[in-house]
Amino acid sequence: MTMQRGRLFAGATVLVLASAVGVVVVTKPDGKSAPGGTAAAAEATLKTPSPTSRTAALNAILAQRATAVLKDDVKGFIASVDPKQPKLVAEQRVLFGNLRQFDFTTLRYFVADERVAPTMIQKFGKTAFTTRVMMRYELTGLDPKPVQTDLGYTFVLRSGRWILVADDAIEEALSEDGHRQPWDFQPVKVVHRGTVTVVVDKKEIPMGKKIAGISQDAVAAVRRHWPRPWNGKVLVVAMPEPRVMSMHWTTGTGNGWTIAAKAVTLYDGEPLSVKAVAPVGSRIVINPAVRKSLDEDLLVHEMTHVATVPTGLGTPTWLVEGLAEYVRCRSIEDDPQWTVDPYRRTVKTKYLPSMKVLPGEAEFDANGDRSYGQAWWATEYLVSTEGVKGMAALYLDLAQHGVSPAADATIIKKHTGKTTAELVTAVKKFRG
Ligand SMILES: [Zn+2]
Repeated sequence: MTMQRGRLFAGATVLVLASAVGVVVVTKPDGKSAPGGTAAAAEATLKTPSPTSRTAALNAILAQRATAVLKDDVKGFIASVDPKQPKLVAEQRVLFGNLRQFDFTTLRYFVADERVAPTMIQKFGKTAFTTRVMMRYELTGLDPKPVQTDLGYTFVLRSGRWILVADDAIEEALSEDGHRQPWDFQPVKVVHRGTVTVVVDKKEIPMGKKIAGISQDAVAAVRRHWPRPWNGKVLVVAMPEPRVMSMHWTTGTGNGWTIAAKAVTLYDGEPLSVKAVAPVGSRIVINPAVRKSLDEDLLVHEMTHVATVPTGLGTPTWLVEGLAEYVRCRSIEDDPQWTVDPYRRTVKTKYLPSMKVLPGEAEFDANGDRSYGQAWWATEYLVSTEGVKGMAALYLDLAQHGVSPAADATIIKKHTGKTTAELVTAVKKFRG
């Protein structure tokens, strides 16, 4: 689901805040600030904070929290959290412990755009200030450069200090993955194995180790069948919490169908308008319902996406999914004891006769099984005529220059000598 969310700069809220009292006073976060009455009296004598000084003060707090994560300083991380809310403090401690599970090359939080949250003003008073916060980070050994996600924090001025009072006021205004990262829920454990990193619930470490092993085999399978360089570095999220990096585990029209796993693309840019920048990489997220019975070939499919995402986003859906299915099926048949013959038969007898186009988003939505089958067959056809390197060259050209259906058609013609319609005809005739 992609919703276009406008930037709701809160004119009204800014006015309210402009009439509020208080300046930013840098005090030692010793938790011994003056109690209510005294604070109110003190605040009354203070001057109005400008938006600039407020941003600077909040950025200083956020910087302190990032430094605290890097330096394993839980006190520094909690210092800005409302001590009157034990539940929030406990959640923030879990967050800190989870972040410590990861190895950050860089970690920075900064104030993004203000968001209206009237319920926060009702609950915490007129100084309550709610803002999107950007988290820009790079995981060591996984991300080739920083990526960004967003969260929503509410702060109030108390005794001249900004205090974090809520982290869930504007969930609906965040990006799809915003505040839904692996560290945002229950305590996690990070398992490392070769180039693979797996995040699981702290109570499911044996499962995490098993998935790490399967993931390593899947990486090897992708390397066997995708002829371009790939470092095999990938983070696999296999948590019981279904909200992690995902809002939906079903798709399609009608009854829909279940998504077993997905590759979530990462960017270094504003997460609400990510398509404007080149992707940095991706994470694999496993549907919690299948995490305990995960098959390697499913991971091979997703790993293929991870291996190819950095090449660019221009490749049309039929070849993106077709390649992932091609690598998955080839990896199954690497073992002479296994075959995808039944799938082959289904595609030839059931899916090809009705094929009219190379399946796009609409076709995948209408019938996932049929579209994946057709996409796979189209890719097998390309490998049979162009070789696997020729198919990969076409994939790359499309990834980098496939800006429109017309551009795709030109690129396909250049590589195969066929129009899109001629390619469909040839794929339908291809017997494998
Ligand atoms: Zn896929």
